[in-house]
Amino acid sequence: MARVSVDDVTKIYSDNDEGRILAVDNVSLDVKDGEFVTIVGPSGSGKSTLLRMIAGLEDITEGTIKIGDTVINDIQPQDRGVAMVFQNYALYPHMTARKNMSYGLKLTTDLSDEEVNARVEEAAEMMGIEDQLDKKPGNLSGGQQQRVATGRAIVRDPEVFLFDEPLSNLDAKLRLHMRTELQRIQEEVGTTSIYVTHDQEEAMTMSDRIVILDAGQIQQVGEPDDIYNEPANKFVANFIGSPSMNMFPVELSGNSLVSEAFEYHLSDRILEEINEYAEEGESLTLGIRPENIQLVDSAGENTIDAYIDVREPVGSDNFLYVTLGGDMECRVRVPGDVKPDEGTNVHIQFDETNLHIFRDQTGRNILTSVEPTDQATTTGDSSVAMAED
Ligand code: ADP
Repeated sequence: MARVSVDDVTKIYSDNDEGRILAVDNVSLDVKDGEFVTIVGPSGSGKSTLLRMIAGLEDITEGTIKIGDTVINDIQPQDRGVAMVFQNYALYPHMTARKNMSYGLKLTTDLSDEEVNARVEEAAEMMGIEDQLDKKPGNLSGGQQQRVATGRAIVRDPEVFLFDEPLSNLDAKLRLHMRTELQRIQEEVGTTSIYVTHDQEEAMTMSDRIVILDAGQIQQVGEPDDIYNEPANKFVANFIGSPSMNMFPVELSGNSLVSEAFEYHLSDRILEEINEYAEEGESLTLGIRPENIQLVDSAGENTIDAYIDVREPVGSDNFLYVTLGGDMECRVRVPGDVKPDEGTNVHIQFDETNLHIFRDQTGRNILTSVEPTDQATTTGDSSVAMAED
């Protein structure tokens, strides 16, 4: 087990057609000993590149990466003490599961055959594949192949596990199951783990901490709950949560936020915070999660008239797709026993304690105590290609 320190790391790919591509832009990150950290972001945000630099599969253009106290920039992948699990499993098709799991260990250590076998069987038991060890990958299901690939990483007893979208090729039900399995294994072995995914739900459910990347830059690092409740900027607010946060363009006018569909009167507490950052007339975005909107019986202070387009039951809750002021769409999540009819008018109200207000100039969330990273304040430009110089 070891800590991983990423310091001011940048990766630039040279590409003949597109010039230079800035894939990872001056990223710094500390993963604690034994921690499970997930790097999440949209496709092309630099997640795999960052992971592959830690693994030693890509050169680091600038910056340093340490595992424990050792700078690993120039250390060969097999000598870094890391074991990686890939999306496509990367198993040898002609070898049995047992051989796939033991092969690397035999090559890189001087363990006896008995010791290697004992490790393989222990890992197989942990992964619940002890009956499958003599089968070849072609005769195993996707889930079983993923278990063999993870078992192969476990037998190496690495300092750090690196997971690159390991569950993406599994069907939805198995994916859910394997999430809990991987968490259980990680807790059992206690190995520092860095996990890459584009799936925000996977990140939210599996991790001690989440790192959100966009355009090669870190937008926010934090525990899942903190990121959900206090997104540092508009990008994070949009990316985390499903259905996603409602975002309404508004303008600050006196003590109200005015949109095309409503006028929201701000309490003194919020007004004070807003006035610290925003100016009269400034364009802002009001963000509110679907579950932080209530239906109320009658019109009153800060209620908004809404028309119910669609009511969608999802287990214990109902999702309401409503329209405000004619054409502003809004998603509302209410308990399952709240069932307003489609095609009717209702009144809704935003829960003030869960309101988010973003500056359009920087994307920054004004109402959070979370300090954005330097990188997070410049978000909004997701173009990562750089002109050839
Ligand atoms: P993610 O894992 O978040 O989808 P990647 O790390 O794969 O993102 O890619 C980040 C950026 O780097 C993208 O613009 C991608 O096209 C580019 N990129 C990745 N690998 C290479 C490569 N080998 N050569 C050139 N560009 C690459």
